[in-house]
Amino acid sequence: MFSLFDFFPIDGAASGAQAREGDVTDFRAIRIDKSDHGHHAGYVVMQERDLMDGDVDVDVAFSAINYKDGLAVSGKGPVVRRFPMIPGVDFAGRVTRSAHPEFAPGDIVVATACGLGEAHYGGFAQKARLSGDWLSKLPPPLRMARAMAVGTAGLTAMFCVMALERHGARPAEGLAAVTGAAGGVGSFAVALLAKAGWRVAAVTGRAAEADYLKRLGATEIIDREEFAGSGRPLQTQRFAVGVDAVGGVTLANLLGQTRFDGAVAACGNVGGMELQMNLAPFILRGVALLGVESVRPRIGLRRAAWARIAQDLEPAAIDAMTEIIPFDEALDRARAVVTGGIRGRVVVDMGLNLPEKDGD
Ligand code: NDP
Repeated sequence: MFSLFDFFPIDGAASGAQAREGDVTDFRAIRIDKSDHGHHAGYVVMQERDLMDGDVDVDVAFSAINYKDGLAVSGKGPVVRRFPMIPGVDFAGRVTRSAHPEFAPGDIVVATACGLGEAHYGGFAQKARLSGDWLSKLPPPLRMARAMAVGTAGLTAMFCVMALERHGARPAEGLAAVTGAAGGVGSFAVALLAKAGWRVAAVTGRAAEADYLKRLGATEIIDREEFAGSGRPLQTQRFAVGVDAVGGVTLANLLGQTRFDGAVAACGNVGGMELQMNLAPFILRGVALLGVESVRPRIGLRRAAWARIAQDLEPAAIDAMTEIIPFDEALDRARAVVTGGIRGRVVVDMGLNLPEKDGD
């Protein structure tokens, strides 16, 4: 396993705690510690002065569980870059202090990736302090719980769809495949592609989720076993485009089944980091492999993606793929994600009962 931060530094990420006068408010968090006795994740009570540096303080209303959080709390992948660490790559909340020109107390904000839960304290805490460059204001009508349902997974799916569109792919060209379809990224990719007018084939290992995937907009369901063998590089051309959250042999087979001039946006590696294939799909069919990463803080792209998500995704569609759990259950559920035990998105209610907007 790898961490995306193996490949680039975290601009603006802070390294130490920044105590301020009056920083004594207690809050609950999940903390990962590593010592000679091993790796341990558990619930703790912390104080604001324990937080890392940053020009914005946020009361965290909701977080969400991502695959990377599962790796972090279970110690199964080298996700965490410093210890102790508060995991949680996403959160939404309300600004309580800001020295950043774009944010003021009371703003409702969302943070995804940018090293949260890896190199900088993340969202599994009732308070966060971070760089305002990593925050986006929530575009209406998105609210905090739904923004967290979207989170890194939805944003990544949106980036994948936007990458396919930048490539020039259009729904009239044929069928779109989504692998890892019942997972977080996959669920959003199905919904977003369907909303954009694509016929969507959901590739899943969970036949029981067929109705769920069809409700999101899938027009057909494909058993992921069909993508499990080391198939020929040039197979029957089935798909015009693909969004791949799995990697490994799944991605190799998807590329082998992609039509002339088609494209696949690849973002995940739950099925493996290796890609063993030859160049045939690229040089004999003109297939494009579009890499997608959502970690780096590209402010313009993020804002465009959030605006498109707010416009394209009906609240009911987001709710259909969302389960909300209390903070007390977050640690166990995060451990479960690495065994594929989560459908869609699991949002964590941090228990602060913050108003969703002024006047609530
Ligand atoms: P989830 O665990 O929610 O979903 C992953 C899905 O992949 C599962 O639900 C399952 O779907 C399928 N799957 C799991 N294991 C295997 C396997 N061994 N072989 C084939 N399919 C499998 O994870 P997320 O959706 O949150 O993340 C998906 C991937 O995307 C991860 O690798 C994650 O690290 C990556 N990611 C990358 C980002 C980036 O910036 N590039 C950002 C966000 C995520 P089903 O049950 O339908 O078969």
